[in-house]
Amino acid sequence: MTDLTIIPAVNHTPEPVFVARHLINGKWQASANGETFERASPAHGQTVTEAALGGAAETEAAIAAAREAFDDGRWSRISGKERAEILLKVAAFIERDLDRIAMRDTLESGKPISQARDEIGGAIDIWRFAASLARTVSGDSHNSLGDDMLGLVLKEPVGVAALIAPWNFPFLIVSQKLPFALAAGCTAVVKPSELTPSSAVILGELLMEAGIPDGVVNIVLGYGDPVGTTMCESESVDMVSFTGSTAVGKAIVRASAGTLKKVSLELGGKNPQVVFPDCDLDEATDAIVFGVYFNAGECCNSGSRIIVHEDIAEALTERVVALSKKVPFGDPLDPRTKVGAIISDAHFDKIDSYVSGARSDGAAIPLGGGALAVPGLSGRFYTPTVVTNVNSTMAVAREEVFGPVLSVLTFKTIEEAIALANGAAYGLSAGVWSNDVSTCLAFARRVQAGTVWTNTWMDGFSELPFGGVKQSGLGRELGRYGLEEYLEVKTVTMRIGRTRASWVE
Ligand code: NAD
Repeated sequence: MTDLTIIPAVNHTPEPVFVARHLINGKWQASANGETFERASPAHGQTVTEAALGGAAETEAAIAAAREAFDDGRWSRISGKERAEILLKVAAFIERDLDRIAMRDTLESGKPISQARDEIGGAIDIWRFAASLARTVSGDSHNSLGDDMLGLVLKEPVGVAALIAPWNFPFLIVSQKLPFALAAGCTAVVKPSELTPSSAVILGELLMEAGIPDGVVNIVLGYGDPVGTTMCESESVDMVSFTGSTAVGKAIVRASAGTLKKVSLELGGKNPQVVFPDCDLDEATDAIVFGVYFNAGECCNSGSRIIVHEDIAEALTERVVALSKKVPFGDPLDPRTKVGAIISDAHFDKIDSYVSGARSDGAAIPLGGGALAVPGLSGRFYTPTVVTNVNSTMAVAREEVFGPVLSVLTFKTIEEAIALANGAAYGLSAGVWSNDVSTCLAFARRVQAGTVWTNTWMDGFSELPFGGVKQSGLGRELGRYGLEEYLEVKTVTMRIGRTRASWVE
């Protein structure tokens, strides 16, 4: 008898298998050699998708289409207003088809359906925000260079952008890239993860329905090698925007070096939340539980590392363990479920090896560890897991577990807390819990992270930039910085009179 909260299988008529094809130059295409791959629901076991398996030939054709579409100006040289109108139409179509898109993300990723709906809702807002930015692309003018000179700084689209996405937020992450690339005037080749190809394909349908010119957005389905590698190595691609693991991010930098293309990376994290004794412990507990179990911990922003003052460590751990038991884990198709299935067997084993490694390193495990049985489902679920007595040298404290596993470390002084927080190779996000604004600000100013949350966790807005420092990435998405990523700067220096002597008299 478990004291966890488990949502058993729901009675659900199986959805038809989604047939996904590449979108190349405005046409849906199978692979030239007819090869396909399948995706099964990680929660339910049955095949949900049959997708064309892209090779170098499809990738090169997609890149060539994007190159031609960029160079002939069918998108790059129309007005920002015209681009915005299409992006707004896409947003409206996503809103219309929200349930269909959310269902595909849930079936392929194992995430809860209610969360998938929220993510698509967030994506709609991003498309609208990016549409508003399409009309703001502007540079500078320099009118103080002397009477006979005028300087202009133009912003231009970078060119052909290769957008490579992971499986953990399939539609949302493509939506953190594509509308900004399009708003800037770039053309794109999109590669969704091989584990979650369908929602990007639906997005392609909606883009065509909205009237995006052929070749402006191309989608190639398949694996990192050869689809992603071909994109990175291609001379015809000007920029790669990648979200995924730090290891693959480094491979992308190496593969892009031959052509010195611009690279933007959103990578992993080992995000600390530092908890001071003067905080609201109930609020902190709720946010910690949310931060570690959201998306089954398969989240770059997972608050997987708690650094708590030793005076309140026991009280906080007790509360976290008690609240963890109330979080509904189970069938992602039940709208009550908050934590669904783990993406793959290999990933399940990786999570479990971190927990067993921590146990053999001397850590305590007051909750969880191992598989969670969900009645009626054959899929793989991991128990909510809390690991205590963790020290900063253990792998579970330093590396990205990417599962529902919380590591608890303790501190005595703020100096020690900041040193622990900054002790990881990553620098994506960090949090601080204290009712003293000076403590929050001192932490926010000294922690090495792209985002800092004070007395909250994981709030995101289309307006606010997101990205990492150190080995969590390069560049930013969202906000106006998200547009700047896809813009190049060109200086135009104009002589508008002659007050100076010629070089040769
Ligand atoms: P992954 O790195 O394995 O794969 C990501 C994408 O890259 C997939 O589309 C994959 O096919 C492709 N790819 C794989 N090898 C490639 C190669 N050599 N060249 C080009 N493309 C290649 O990551 P994942 O397992 O899909 O996602 C999980 C990781 O993503 C985690 O580390 C997580 O922290 C990170 N992530 C980061 C953010 C962020 O914004 N910082 C957001 C979500 C996920």
